[in-house]
Amino acid sequence: MTTPPATTSTQRRWPAALGRIATLVLTDDFRQRRRVTMVLMTAAMYTVCLALLGYGVVFEVFEAGAVKVLGLLCALTALSFYAMVRSGLNLRFAEPSLALPQALVAQSLIGIAYAVSGPAHAANLIFLAMVMFFGMFDMGPRNVRLLMFYTSAMMGAVMAWCAHADPAFYPARLELIYFAMMATVLPVISTLSVQLSRMRDRLRSQKVALESALEHIQKVATHDELTGLPNRRRMLGLLDEHIARQARGGPGFFVALADIDHFKKVNDTYGHRVGDEALVCFAGQARAQLRSTDMVARWGGEEFLMLLPASPPGDPNIGIERLRAALVETEASAQAPQLRVAFSAGMTRYRSGEQVDDMIERADRALYAAKAAGRNRTVAL
Ligand code: GH3
Ligand code: MG
Ligand code: MG
Repeated sequence: MTTPPATTSTQRRWPAALGRIATLVLTDDFRQRRRVTMVLMTAAMYTVCLALLGYGVVFEVFEAGAVKVLGLLCALTALSFYAMVRSGLNLRFAEPSLALPQALVAQSLIGIAYAVSGPAHAANLIFLAMVMFFGMFDMGPRNVRLLMFYTSAMMGAVMAWCAHADPAFYPARLELIYFAMMATVLPVISTLSVQLSRMRDRLRSQKVALESALEHIQKVATHDELTGLPNRRRMLGLLDEHIARQARGGPGFFVALADIDHFKKVNDTYGHRVGDEALVCFAGQARAQLRSTDMVARWGGEEFLMLLPASPPGDPNIGIERLRAALVETEASAQAPQLRVAFSAGMTRYRSGEQVDDMIERADRALYAAKAAGRNRTVAL
């Protein structure tokens, strides 16, 4: 026997260890993981900007004290949002992505960076646009507009204050041009953002509509519309499952084919609508009276097929006889209070290896025998 080389086990351990670290940092909840990732991306952006400002401090372009304060504020912001999202505190808010507060704080920090980056301050304008792009994915139209107005007003105030306090680096006319440029670009981005958000809403509602249509189609394909019972196609699937289970050594099962007695007369005497109500009544009683493990489907017309597992509880005929007794007591239609529904049934056990059709045919013969013997009874074959 050969021992696997050490590298193999290391290779196998690494991805699992990375997965554990990723779960620890990002959580294993899919939605929260996306939010944490966004927070960490913002933190990375802060780090890169601060590194560039630090580089400027080395060359004495920027003031060290101001950059330190800005660094502290960025670190505090990133940590606070990370803690909120990682701990799940964000889920208590109406918008758990915290996109708007994060964007508002980011724009404010960019405003501060603008005021402390002297000769290079115009470079900060690009970051304002970047934050707006970030917001595109999680914000609705209202919040996008709010962010745009806040950014314009805040930057207008910062620019006016800088032009007043430090006209050498912030000449008033140049600030006015920057403001005009910003005031042109931000509304364009916010319009795109709003369109994206509407598109997202449309996709979401189309997805919901498609899901419910699919659910409806599945229901229609497998259930009978009048009684709500599984239809013949569904019952054939269930029979296949039970046959496979028996082939694997599972419990056997019986089927009973039930046919309502003298149903033509019900239709002829009371009309088709009362006939329909009688079928619905039969289906409701069958659901209520058969054993919880039994299944019943509308086989066609006024015929119903029951699948009765051989395993406990009790004799497979118990549910059928309970149904027969309940129907004697049950009003089949409010329009014909005296009408009662009775049925005949042919019951048989599935024999290992035989085709479904052979078993159904035997049940049909048993049903015929029940009819011939005077109806309102079950015959087993
Ligand atoms: P038997 O006791 O021998 O079964 O007599 P029967 O009158 O029930 O005879 P049969 O089974 O041949 O008649 C079935 C009738 O069921 C004929 C058909 O008009 C009626 N039927 C089939 N499907 C529906 C339905 O969805 N609604 C209504 N109201 N009647 C149906
Ligand atoms: Mg019939
Ligand atoms: Mg009938």
